[in-house]
Amino acid sequence: MERYYDVIIVGSGVAGCFTALHLPSDTKILMITKGDIDESDSFLAQGGICVLKDDSDYDSFFEDTLRAGHYENRKASVDMMIRSSRSVIEELMEDGVEFATKDGELIYTREGAHSTNRILYHEDVTGKEITSKLVAKVQKLPNVTLRTHTQMIDILCRDNICDGVVVRDEETGDLIPVFAGNVMWACGGIGGIYENSTNFPILTGDALAISILHHITLEHINYVQIHPTVLYSKKHERRFLISESVRGEGALLRDKDGNRFVNELLPRDLLSKAIYEQMEKDGTEHVWLDLTAITKVDVKERFPNIVKHCLEEGYDVTKDWIPVVPAQHYFMGGVFVDQHSHTSMRHLYAAGEVSCNGVHGANRLASNSLLESLVFAKTAALYMTEHPDDEEYQGTVRIPGSSLQGFSLFGDMDAGPAEDAEGPERSAGTAHIYDEKGYLTAAQAPTVDELSAIYELTPDEYRDADLYAQKNKARIWNEIHNEERRQKEIKNKRYN
Ligand SMILES: Cc1cc2nc3c(=O)[nH]c(=O)nc-3n(C[C@H](O)[C@H](O)[C@H](O)COP(=O)(O)OP(=O)(O)OC[C@H]3O[C@@H](n4cnc5c(N)ncnc54)[C@H](O)[C@@H]3O)c2cc1C
Repeated sequence: MERYYDVIIVGSGVAGCFTALHLPSDTKILMITKGDIDESDSFLAQGGICVLKDDSDYDSFFEDTLRAGHYENRKASVDMMIRSSRSVIEELMEDGVEFATKDGELIYTREGAHSTNRILYHEDVTGKEITSKLVAKVQKLPNVTLRTHTQMIDILCRDNICDGVVVRDEETGDLIPVFAGNVMWACGGIGGIYENSTNFPILTGDALAISILHHITLEHINYVQIHPTVLYSKKHERRFLISESVRGEGALLRDKDGNRFVNELLPRDLLSKAIYEQMEKDGTEHVWLDLTAITKVDVKERFPNIVKHCLEEGYDVTKDWIPVVPAQHYFMGGVFVDQHSHTSMRHLYAAGEVSCNGVHGANRLASNSLLESLVFAKTAALYMTEHPDDEEYQGTVRIPGSSLQGFSLFGDMDAGPAEDAEGPERSAGTAHIYDEKGYLTAAQAPTVDELSAIYELTPDEYRDADLYAQKNKARIWNEIHNEERRQKEIKNKRYN
């Protein structure tokens, strides 16, 4: 890992990979990821990915997304996601992603709160199919340095401009400041701070905690989606999700006496509420999901992964009902971004579950998140590329202690620093710390301790991983509670 990159991408799920794949091939990219390469929620997506199958479905797709989101969605973002959907799917297929077909035609399935079939899928492992293909493509890019087990623990920022990130190497424990022209947060959701969640435990909302510290604008931080049906278990580990499409294909929910008690295709928030109410009424810790009611498709063929996992837990879904319960699943809120996926801090972008571009409003429509992550990651990459001179977002790379300023990020790198800058050759005292392109070299680059005063960093806190995680969790919970309190006060004022 070097000490200066054009772009640092934090996260290797679909948002991170699609960003890397849409930056120019001469962009020097560092991609870091907190765990193993396949430890991202993108690998877990089961149900599928939405697409505008033909123009006649536009109004209905738009309305379904808004209705699920309680009309709190940003309409321009929804429009952009829907209109970009087909080209994104075509790109995925060009990259080798396979979706289910019949007689050579794509098959569209349906999930809760969709008024028609518009979801593409690959068995019940759509996320794995998409993400593994994208990761493989990124791994082949010569301009991308990919580092697993490397955690972003803070950003380098001054005057509301992001200059890079501070990372901790899990194996060595080293703290390393890495400078960049632009930073992209593609670091996923917050399930790791919950007791019951379908997410990977490493997804602990680190970017949100960093945002709170550095006053980066957040939006809808209390909008957390609870998935209505995960496999009930007494064990404390990631909960196994029973995809919505199971209910879309005809599975029924039953109470303790075996009776149906709800419309299984209600939006997620309303269905979760109905299940909690039923559990309270029945005095049970779960309700039942009956997959034997599915008659339209062969369950073993359509949901092989669910069938296999349930068998491992002792349930044969072709004969037994399975116990299900709601759990934390998705985060609609996040780091506020505009139409170009740019945050409130210059040089800092965000896409995917970590960000809030307003597509999902107060509640996400099933299978919209993979699509939203891909569309807005691509948007960010194209914006960074197409607007190299946009003063609002780009500006200059600033390297403390150096006289190198005014470096063009996507301009002619070979031309060296801008005219008004003092290039390496002009600053005799510090010339040795740059390579021929003006990049910092590893040997002489400043340490986190040296930078701590300039950037208000707290190296001692970063070195204690448990303390760091606890503090971040507390910061996020506080913010969620504060936001809830604020919204209650607003509602009370309206009604009084
Ligand atoms: C069980 C399950 C099923 C789902 N099913 C569907 C579905 O059918 N359809 C759909 O559209 N959506 C589905 N979703 C949601 C969807 O998978 C996610 O919203 C989407 O994949 C998010 O992608 P992402 O790239 O933003 O984040 P992720 O794929 O979660 O990637 C986050 C990345 O950030 C890295 N990271 C986090 N913090 C740090 C840090 N501090 N430093 C370095 N790296 C960091 C992680 O290591 C990881 O690589 C499902 C989610 C789950 C959990």
